[in-house]
Amino acid sequence: MSNDGRLSSPFRIDKPAKFRLRDIDPDDTQGLRDEEHALGTLRKGIERMRELQERLYAENSWALLLVFQAMDAAGKDSTIKHVMSGVNPAGCQVASFKAPSSEELDHDFLWRCVKHLPERGRIGIFNRSYYEEVLVVRVHQEFLLRQGLPERLRTKRIFDERLQDIACWERYLARNGVAIIKFYLHVSKAEQRRRFLARLDEEDKHWKFNADDVKEREHWDEYMDAYEAAIRATGTEEAPWYVVPADHKWFMRAVVADAIVARMKDLDLKYPAMDGQKKADLAESRKVLMAGKGGKKKAEEA
Ligand code: ATP
Ligand code: MG
Repeated sequence: MSNDGRLSSPFRIDKPAKFRLRDIDPDDTQGLRDEEHALGTLRKGIERMRELQERLYAENSWALLLVFQAMDAAGKDSTIKHVMSGVNPAGCQVASFKAPSSEELDHDFLWRCVKHLPERGRIGIFNRSYYEEVLVVRVHQEFLLRQGLPERLRTKRIFDERLQDIACWERYLARNGVAIIKFYLHVSKAEQRRRFLARLDEEDKHWKFNADDVKEREHWDEYMDAYEAAIRATGTEEAPWYVVPADHKWFMRAVVADAIVARMKDLDLKYPAMDGQKKADLAESRKVLMAGKGGKKKAEEA
């Protein structure tokens, strides 16, 4: 019996309409006590991911989109680095979404993300995403004013409408063979404070420190409400949310790897079948290679 998916399934939001953020404890480790324990799981997960990615690539049919959202210092970047460490970089691309440029603001909000969608056979990782449009823009509605939208469309309903549009778009992608998993890395406010303080205390972490991130803590509860609304409105079977406890990074990474493996396994990825003609071609190529010259390197090439 395979264990794939067992570690992550408690954190997959299967009943989004009733989802409450406070039901998931950022400190949870499912009884796993130490990093060493989870490291084994993580290593195995990454190994499985490597295997499955080869099939994904060979089959060239499904694409996989991994969306990462989190408050600052939850460990988004390092989790992405860990996931990437397991896969062939040629088949995997990361796109990071920051405050939109003026060119991006001249388009609909999904435009900049569409350009970074993975092609068939590939894995795309979004470090932040179109969800910022219903998170940071919801918390700081002055950003909405800069978006150049026609005034009559900027109504009270706009964030609910955006959530509907996101859910429809994800369904459209799913129907086109893009398998989506969305991760909210759920760090507690207290742990975020500890991590910011560590950035101040340790010189080699100073580069990570941003005073604006500390100010953003004033809006913590508003962000939590915005996340909850987003997860409720966009959690679907084809594009599920995982709300992953993030106060222990080792646990978080193991859960993320497990969720990815479970989803990829579910796609039932197969190497393309070899028909009779293809097999005959392979046999013919072998014959040519065996009979041919040039088996030994020339002296000047050696
Ligand atoms: P991160 O904060 O993701 O670790 P970073 O610090 O390198 O990365 P920042 O310059 O802080 O990058 O860019 C991320 C910021 O961009 C976040 O505060 C995020 O809320 C903001 N952002 C992303 N998308 C949007 C958007 N659509 N509208 C406004 N702000 C956005
Ligand atoms: Mg930042």
